[in-house]
Amino acid sequence: MNILVLGSGGREHAFAWKISQSPRCNKMFVAPGNAGTATIAENVNIKVTDFKTIGEFVITNQINLVVVGPEDPLVNGIRDYFEKNSQLKNVLLVGPGAAGAQLEGSKDFSKDFMNRHGIPTAKSKTFTIDTLEEGLNYVSSHPTPIVLKADGLAAGKGVIISETAEHARETLKEMLVDAKFGEASSRVVVEQFLKGIELSVFVLSDGTNYKILPEAKDYKRIGEQDTGLNTGGMGAISPVPFATPSFLAKVEEKVIKPSINGLKKEGIDYKGFLFIGLMNMEGEPFVIEYNVRMGDPETQSVLSRIDSDLLEILEGSANGTLNEKTFSVSPQTATTVVMVAGGYPEAYEKSKEITGIESVNEASVFHAGTQLNPFGQTLTNGGRVLAVTGMGESVEKALENAYNGVKKISWQDEYHRTDIGQDILKLLK
Ligand code: AMP
Repeated sequence: MNILVLGSGGREHAFAWKISQSPRCNKMFVAPGNAGTATIAENVNIKVTDFKTIGEFVITNQINLVVVGPEDPLVNGIRDYFEKNSQLKNVLLVGPGAAGAQLEGSKDFSKDFMNRHGIPTAKSKTFTIDTLEEGLNYVSSHPTPIVLKADGLAAGKGVIISETAEHARETLKEMLVDAKFGEASSRVVVEQFLKGIELSVFVLSDGTNYKILPEAKDYKRIGEQDTGLNTGGMGAISPVPFATPSFLAKVEEKVIKPSINGLKKEGIDYKGFLFIGLMNMEGEPFVIEYNVRMGDPETQSVLSRIDSDLLEILEGSANGTLNEKTFSVSPQTATTVVMVAGGYPEAYEKSKEITGIESVNEASVFHAGTQLNPFGQTLTNGGRVLAVTGMGESVEKALENAYNGVKKISWQDEYHRTDIGQDILKLLK
């Protein structure tokens, strides 16, 4: 099969790496890719939202399967674009159409969807500029902390947790009146704060059948002990010990089945990944959010634990034969440590030479913000630069492998957290 992976992050490098292990993988392309994907596939300089050029490339290069990494092309209807084009409609594509992608593209849609299908989630109400007064009263009459969410895509920044009613009222005004997140905050979901332990569950569906992938926990903040600014993700671990078999069984019955069946009932043919952000509240799962693609850096840990042929499973999702595919998961732990440019997630510099990657043999190194210069040197080209994934029979061993890998790599002003997985180690003691 000829494959095209869309995206340029560590997630897409991990997809390309795993797909390249399949005996059925013939030619693989990544658009636009990075210095890491260039070592296992051919990078193509096309933007992930340029559907016309993607379509032409797919036809010219006889691509059989397209894997969509990020949410933007999905929310903007890449599947619909393919389905409407007679030369593209038979090309397999992993990722839902625009209707299904609303689960991530509109928080208001996703809350309504959960309520329609009895899926446990925080109580909420949605407000617009026309209902601002009602929104301000709602905020004042509900307990704090209270959560305000921009309805649309806001690059992971659209969620604000207010500790006081006054802050929540100000924030609601900023979002609705001052368009704090542009069009994305023209509607705001005001939601009850859920207290518990967070984890992510990943499902791959073919519209009817589904496979539950390994769960993961990510580390979102820049500082040790999860302090400081939010980032795209500083680390991840899988499995998560507090996701016990009985908890995961509840997740399947109360969340996964009604989600997949609900989509089908609503006439949405959902072929792709569904990433469910969950709060474990005293043993009960509550959905915080849906994403319609895999997470980064969770993908690097999750795919590292999949023993079966990923290409087979992706094909099964895209052509509706997922139930015929074998799927096995390694019992090992996978931990991912993200190495970032100093200053990230605020201002940072690019074009620093990275050294030491080739000497890492105890872990997998996935590239994110990297590029090759004409002299063959690998340079930093973004905030999150590399993700290093270590595997092991125990959490300790997985962490040792990941951090030994990290130690061998350097560039000027490199930063990473040193406490990834420490909370899990404590829990296990
Ligand atoms: P999201 O962009 O929806 O992933 O939200 C970002 C983060 O905000 C989540 O990962 C949670 O840590 C937090 N969060 C979102 N909704 C809630 C909620 N209802 N209660 C508590 N924390 C929340």
